[in-house]
Amino acid sequence: MLSEPRIQRYARQILLRDVGGVGQEALGARGVRLAARGPLFDVAATYLRAGGTAVEPAADVGAWAADAPLLDTAPGAWLEVSTLASPPLPPCVVVGVQAGTLELWSVGPEGCLDCVGERLLPASEALPAGPRALVAGGALALLVQRRLLGLGAGLEGLAVSAPGFVARLEPPRCTHRPPALPAQVLAGVLTHLRAAWPEEGCGVLLEGEGGLRFVPLANAQAAHHARDPDAFPRDARRAFTLEPAAWLRLVKEAEAHGDRLAALVHSHPEGPARFSDEDRRQAAPDGLPLFPGMAHLVVAFQRGTPVKAVWALWRNGGFEELDCPLGG
Ligand SMILES: [Zn+2]
Ligand SMILES: [Zn+2]
Repeated sequence: MLSEPRIQRYARQILLRDVGGVGQEALGARGVRLAARGPLFDVAATYLRAGGTAVEPAADVGAWAADAPLLDTAPGAWLEVSTLASPPLPPCVVVGVQAGTLELWSVGPEGCLDCVGERLLPASEALPAGPRALVAGGALALLVQRRLLGLGAGLEGLAVSAPGFVARLEPPRCTHRPPALPAQVLAGVLTHLRAAWPEEGCGVLLEGEGGLRFVPLANAQAAHHARDPDAFPRDARRAFTLEPAAWLRLVKEAEAHGDRLAALVHSHPEGPARFSDEDRRQAAPDGLPLFPGMAHLVVAFQRGTPVKAVWALWRNGGFEELDCPLGG
């Protein structure tokens, strides 16, 4: 609970609709750790301390730094503010640079730090000074306070341009996490793959306005293998190939409808639930994904029954696997 002197001290802030008494307590309950130094961080620290939040290390901001702590008790938790050179774990606020513009991103517990790391360069050498630091420091403090108040979305960003204009940034679409797969879409995927067994089945998950939907595709491997067993030594029980014409048509139609290729799906009949070396080679032949942002889903079958599934997502320069629950 806020004491009477504290209510007096923060009266103007407590009157703000988005703060109130509960918000004022939230601003004091967590402290802020600054992992970088410089005018931008000093300015942010000044605003934050004035708002009732403890800041470590104490910034070099004269009288403010020398002031007694503004709260009776030490904060119970800390929020990290950092440059990308030393990325913290979310929730956090990170500072980076993109094409000469300073970007400030607040990442919530459910936010994706990879999305931020992918678009930015570390800001350590390009931090603003002078009037721009004042603007950027104020913007940084605002993002931190929104996070402390529980108002921040999963990912919230502000850009501070070279002349010192602040603009809100549209959060990028995250491709580092598997798409949410509704039960009935998964059921459609499994039905198609089961019908293809004992051969590998394949298809694609498209994401459009109506959410995710599955488009089954034919596995052309059997025909290729029969026609040219030297070039296609593995039969359709051990490999899948998309018919180039059908695939091209699908990609063009998806583009025309504004649909996104969310994931390429295939099965491993009597095989492991792993994104195999061959799968990796096909998905990223030259060490770069053929379809950036597209995930892969592999469903392993045993005796005609789906037993386990994994997503493969392109992260940090390679494919990483993540379990895909098949449900009860
Ligand atoms: Zn992401
Ligand atoms: Zn495979």
